[in-house]
Amino acid sequence: MDKTEKLLCELVALPSVNPAFLPARDPRAGEQRVSEFLAVKAGHAGLDVEFQRVLPGRSNLVARLAPLRAPRRRILLAPHLDTVNGDAAQFTPCRRDGRLFGRGACDTKGSVAAMLSALCELAGSKKRPAETEIVFAGLVDEENAQAGSRALAASGLRADLAIVGEPTRLQVVTAHKGSLWLELETRGKLAHGARPELGRNAIHEMARIVDWLETGYAARLRWRRHRLLGCATVSVGTIRGGAQANIVPDRCVISIDRRTLPGETESAVSRELRSLLRQRHLQAWIGSAKLAACLPLETNPRLPLVLEFLRSAGQPRPAGVDYFCDASVLSGAGIPSVVFGPGDIARAHTANEWISLDSLRRGQSMLLRFLQTLP
Ligand SMILES: [Zn+2]
Repeated sequence: MDKTEKLLCELVALPSVNPAFLPARDPRAGEQRVSEFLAVKAGHAGLDVEFQRVLPGRSNLVARLAPLRAPRRRILLAPHLDTVNGDAAQFTPCRRDGRLFGRGACDTKGSVAAMLSALCELAGSKKRPAETEIVFAGLVDEENAQAGSRALAASGLRADLAIVGEPTRLQVVTAHKGSLWLELETRGKLAHGARPELGRNAIHEMARIVDWLETGYAARLRWRRHRLLGCATVSVGTIRGGAQANIVPDRCVISIDRRTLPGETESAVSRELRSLLRQRHLQAWIGSAKLAACLPLETNPRLPLVLEFLRSAGQPRPAGVDYFCDASVLSGAGIPSVVFGPGDIARAHTANEWISLDSLRRGQSMLLRFLQTLP
């Protein structure tokens, strides 16, 4: 077992489930165990370590490798430390057939292990950069409201490039979709179930809206294609309405997941939806269902450092992904950001999460090679 693999096993065995997905005081909740463990590792490798408090008992870990001379630029390695929940067996790492199974193995403790292990190896080598500071930032709360990356961005830390860890199958990703959650509400008129003609059924109105969203609107979104991202999508996720069978309901609410392309804003999407519904003689009140905006990512692939990373990764063109991540938050704060990491997002959040150990090793060496080229 090499060092990166061992580190990943240790990380999987330390649960760091986002507290948003667990009852209060659950023993698996929170990232603190993992950030303290990584702080010790980073300290042993000679990195300068500090905790950035984000929420009570939840801190980003910031570990820096200072360059030999005065720093002229800074690279950020930014994976997240939290995971979604899993069943008990998933917190015991298990190696089988060239894979490591366990919660977080690919999303995104694989990236944490590859990034920190590359940085520690660089710290101990002779190829340490002369003028580039490299900062590892283990972030909390990516899976819920991205409080970690938002706090890091708000702290005023500047960087010339952030490599955000997510399982991209070792592709350098410069664009991802935004994630918009909207609530739509229809209103009708209460009446006795025996006299439905006296009321106006809010569920029936919503049923027509749901049908249109999933057919006509979804088809309309397929007209416009982004070079790296394909098309925007819509999906109706929840519906609630009505009190009991013998009352005509006066209210029905759905929540929808609308994945956006660069250039689409929440207000533009809401405005467009309202007008399209009106054309169909349908009416709904539209509101936001997210704590903070989750905008699309589009980083200029011709930026010198992005080009260097692409070249070093042997990748002719940048890639795009469907899912939202911390890269959007850092990019919104003016830090050019790309997404990169071992593992496949298709295995993330599943009951059988795993990462290919070959991908983990290659990820570590690709990162190390890139960091070694920095002046
Ligand atoms: Zn992730």
